Amino acid sequence: MEIIQIYYFYFFVIGLVVGSFLNVLIDRLPEDRSVIFGRSRCDSCKKKIPLSDLVPLLSFVVLKGICRYCKSPIGWRTPIVELTTGLLFVLVFLYNSNNTPALHSAGVLTLLTQLIVVSGLIAIFFIDLKHGIIPDIIVFPTTVIAFLYLLLNTQYLIPNTLSGLGAFLFFLSLFLLTKGKGMGFGDVKLSFLLGIFLGFPKIVAGLYLSFLSGAVISLILITLRKKTLKQTVPFGPFLVAGTIAAFFLDDAIKVILPFLDIL
Ligand SMILES: [Zn+2]
Repeated sequence: MEIIQIYYFYFFVIGLVVGSFLNVLIDRLPEDRSVIFGRSRCDSCKKKIPLSDLVPLLSFVVLKGICRYCKSPIGWRTPIVELTTGLLFVLVFLYNSNNTPALHSAGVLTLLTQLIVVSGLIAIFFIDLKHGIIPDIIVFPTTVIAFLYLLLNTQYLIPNTLSGLGAFLFFLSLFLLTKGKGMGFGDVKLSFLLGIFLGFPKIVAGLYLSFLSGAVISLILITLRKKTLKQTVPFGPFLVAGTIAAFFLDDAIKVILPFLDIL
């Protein structure tokens, strides 16, 4: 194996482990349960899950997706969060190794900050999807970390802070204009983080992709009669998906362009 492939594997495994922790956050934060104390229990039979059944991804495969004791389904979200986090960790690493040499000393802090923000966004995606809330306890610390990074890398400080403020004001005015019916205040608080994370002009691409995907999916759900016009679809998951897509956009274009040339 070449050294770079060892790094892919390493970041994938770390991502799986972080994803496993994100599952705990997603389950417990909206219910105000301790995130650190207390072992995970089966949702159905409430038995403590042995450590050997908490190995990311592998346990789900070995147990064939059902609880060891009561045989009730564990739920697909568990492996999906783990796998998504694993894959995104590899992509973030790849993104950085394209721009700077792998684990270049100045790049470690950048990489770490991006991994933390992406992890926070994954948790927000699934918590908002399931519970319709975007918890401050994830948004605020992630925003502080992203902002501390800007303070250490002053070339980004002004442009990215302005992007954050721009996104925040845009969402605040939407929130006020629709009297909170269009979106929740959680989306407004999240938008500042997205702006300082993406910077300009990526934040524009991120918001565009969020609104576009949000509109398309809502229309599909309404057509399939899964939702009525009056019901709201949480917007957080679209904001997260749009942001992550925009983050990788320049690399994605580099991959796609040669194919377009052939056509
Ligand atoms: Zn059980």
